[in-house]
Amino acid sequence: MLRTALRLNLCKFLPLAAMAIVAQLGASQTVDKTAADPRIAAALREVSAQRIQANIDKLVGFGTRLTLSAQDLASIASGSGIGAAREWIKSQFEQYSKDCGGCLEVKTDSFTEGPADRIPNATQITNVYAVLKGTDPVQTKRIVLVTGHYDSRNSDTLDVKGDAPGANDDASGTAVSLECARVLSKMKFPATIIFLTVAGEEQGLNGSKHFAKMAKDASWQLEAIFNNDIVGGDKSAEQDHSVVRVFSEGVPVAATEQDSRRIRGLGGESDSASREVARYIADVGRTYDAGVKPMLIFRLDRYLRGGDHFSFNQQGFAAVRLTEYREDFHHQHQNVRTENGVQFGDLPKFVDYDYVAHVARLNAATLASLASAPGPPANVHIVTKELENDTTLTWDASPGAVAYEVVWRATTSPEWEHAENVGNTTRATLKVSKDNVIFAVSAVDAAGHRSLTVVPVPER
Ligand SMILES: [Zn+2]
Repeated sequence: MLRTALRLNLCKFLPLAAMAIVAQLGASQTVDKTAADPRIAAALREVSAQRIQANIDKLVGFGTRLTLSAQDLASIASGSGIGAAREWIKSQFEQYSKDCGGCLEVKTDSFTEGPADRIPNATQITNVYAVLKGTDPVQTKRIVLVTGHYDSRNSDTLDVKGDAPGANDDASGTAVSLECARVLSKMKFPATIIFLTVAGEEQGLNGSKHFAKMAKDASWQLEAIFNNDIVGGDKSAEQDHSVVRVFSEGVPVAATEQDSRRIRGLGGESDSASREVARYIADVGRTYDAGVKPMLIFRLDRYLRGGDHFSFNQQGFAAVRLTEYREDFHHQHQNVRTENGVQFGDLPKFVDYDYVAHVARLNAATLASLASAPGPPANVHIVTKELENDTTLTWDASPGAVAYEVVWRATTSPEWEHAENVGNTTRATLKVSKDNVIFAVSAVDAAGHRSLTVVPVPER
């Protein structure tokens, strides 16, 4: 990628201070991402595969975590069923909070669902989450969120008693949320991070739907959601342990008729806010050595499947799904059994804990980068008053930004190819025709942290 090549060249020659000067001068020189933030790089080294293994084993130890399984006090005390899993997750978050002097707010979002499809009787569903409040009075309203679902199932989605280990689906994603909370709670960020674990996924995304609606109704400024579901790196022969898939919706499910018209007319099919989040992860994957590379998949989800990111998309939030490269369907939604010498069931022995740790590092690096960065510029417009071959972009200043970067790519390219630091301004004109490329703008702080990119809307 041109952008990466340019970055490497410039980073070699330009120390941070010099890049800041270039930014202030508004020089029309291509400036790309700075080197990794050493604070974030150090945090990634704290992510522990052993911790993740212990947490996945603990979750499997509850027997079943089916949303309809036991959650009475006796079952919780005996350590079986979803109620016991819920209380244990809560206790983990509380322990992390204790270790950081009470820096986390540990909360539950509890509601009654059903009777409904896959929920025969009214059932209490509880999401458990921890909030690491942002330290900046303005930026704290901005929230980035990581989630996984802690419920599990076997072959029968109504079997409340039978074992449903769910080691990969989705104790792995739950372990990612927990480990990100443990590691990142030792740091402070201007913006807020939420570490979420939801239930009800296997019954119909019930937990995430409730949480996303709560966030929408309360006007939370949720900037990006990372849903980790099946990130265990199943040890099948055809697995590629070097990549993790990142799914993102194209035309947003929440697009208005006016949005859709613009998308059809101007070629915006590949520039949903969720896709900008996916591109951001790809960039983070190049900046930090997480041990796993994101593989962007430009579709909402896999065939015949769904996930919690969709609940957030439905409420208009930018959300993506991370999933291992190759799934083994003998190890998902299956009763634990052996048939013709084949072992079925979502067992811990199929999980690659180092891989889960790599995925956790990629999540932590992305969360930390976004929570450190200024908010994305608002009201990004592309001026279309007259027919002309130059391109003029305008935007609102973003608190904390010292410069803005205009990026662009060919309409046929998946990722940003060119970047120009235009300095501390809210208007830029480039000698590139808007008819031929796709533009976006991001905000950059003094340390080089970048916001999400925002694709402009036309302004007459
Ligand atoms: Zn799942």
